[in-house]
Amino acid sequence: MRWISHIAIAGSICAVFNPAAVPAAVLGSTAPDWFEFVKRAVQRNRPVKHRGSTHYLVGWVAAALFGLLIWDWRDLVYWFSVGGAIHWFCDALTVSGAPVGWWSDRRVTLFGGKVQTGRPSEYLITFLVVLLCAILVWQRESTPGGFLPFFYDWSGLYRSGLIDGSEWKSNRFKLF
Ligand SMILES: [Zn+2]
Repeated sequence: MRWISHIAIAGSICAVFNPAAVPAAVLGSTAPDWFEFVKRAVQRNRPVKHRGSTHYLVGWVAAALFGLLIWDWRDLVYWFSVGGAIHWFCDALTVSGAPVGWWSDRRVTLFGGKVQTGRPSEYLITFLVVLLCAILVWQRESTPGGFLPFFYDWSGLYRSGLIDGSEWKSNRFKLF
C-alpha cells in the first residue's frame, strides 16, 4: 500500500483509542518501509528484500507486547508498534502479501489479497476505515463516558476538562 493509506488508516485507528499517540502510530505505520531504506543504507553490499524482515508480523506484535507489558513511555512504544502491525495487515490485503515471520518465506495474504497498490480498491478500504473511525470518535465525543468500557479513561479526562468550564460554575452549589 501507499504511505498515504498506511498513515490514514493507522492514524485514524489510533485517534479512536489514544489521540495523543497518533504521531507515534503514524511513524510506526510507515516504519516497515523506511526501516528498509535504513537497512539498505547500512548494508550496502547485501541486497535487502522488499517486505522482508522489517515486515514480520511477529516482530511488530512482540514490540507491541513489550510496550504493553515491560516498558513504555506514554504508550508511544505500544502505538508505534501497533502502527507497524497495522502496516502488516494493510500489506497483507494486497496481491503480494506480507510475511508472518522469519520461517514463512511464502507471504500471507488476507481476504484473498485482492487489493492492488495504488488502485481504487486501496483507497476504498482506506476511506472506509477512516470513515468508521471518524464515526467512533464522533460517537465518543457526543456521549462522554458512555462509550465502550476501554474508552472510559480518556473520555473521563475529557469530561473533567469540560466540567472546569461554565458547567462547573452553574452546578457548583448543587449537591444533587
Ligand atoms: Zn510495506
